Amino acid sequence: MVMRSKLVAGNWKMHGGTVQNQDLLAAILAGTEGLSETDVAVCVPYPYLPQAQSLLQGTHISWGAQNVSQHGKGAYTGEVSAAMLMDFSCRYAIVGHSERRALYGEDSHTVALKFKAARAAGLLPILCVGETLDQREAGITEQIVAEQLDAVIKLMGVDALVNSVLAYEPVWAIGTGKTATPDQAQDVHAFIRGRIIAHSPEVATGLRILYGGSVKASNAAELFAMPDIDGGLIGGASLVADEFIAICRAAKKELILE
Ligand code: PEP
Repeated sequence: MVMRSKLVAGNWKMHGGTVQNQDLLAAILAGTEGLSETDVAVCVPYPYLPQAQSLLQGTHISWGAQNVSQHGKGAYTGEVSAAMLMDFSCRYAIVGHSERRALYGEDSHTVALKFKAARAAGLLPILCVGETLDQREAGITEQIVAEQLDAVIKLMGVDALVNSVLAYEPVWAIGTGKTATPDQAQDVHAFIRGRIIAHSPEVATGLRILYGGSVKASNAAELFAMPDIDGGLIGGASLVADEFIAICRAAKKELILE
């Protein structure tokens, strides 16, 4: 029997400011207090990690970054290492977000190296995978997602996924207001879990697979009710306290009977 607690993680992207952050985090803290069935996290821009740490340390909310370098240290201007994130007690680091892949040319091998660097430092990577609209319409969603996932398994082995988090984020649903239907999302989540089962049923059963792409208070419950959807990676709605709190409240712990 396996208990997969749901995780709702906010991805603030390049939004925020010290005053807004303070108000937003205070509201989320109050609004999610006592929510024992859901893990809650916020992935904030790098400069606000000390603020997140000071406001969230000792609370039920974790914090993390939206990216991490694949390198340990050195002449990599503008980059931030996993050890630096650990200096601010980050729990999570998003790797392979579609905006990083599309706008900054990160390929699946680079993402796998970032995943490796995060794990080696003690961070829990949130590995994002997902297809574009063209890829979905060409019928190659599974092929794309498999390639993105397999790069990590090839580099590190399937055990690297223990305690890691996957996020299926169809690119056509991110920031567009178009959400995958619960069935569309469930199909891909089941495909991902099935692919990992082929390597290790134990790892697959324990793995949290989040859905991301225009999740809102109004659609979260139906998405989170699907058997292979273990929470959400939330962009725009994570910047609005009431929306984010309602999304967190829509997530409930799943008991998986084997
Ligand atoms: C994201 O950035 O990971 C995301 C899912 O964004 P949004 O919720 O705004 O679609």
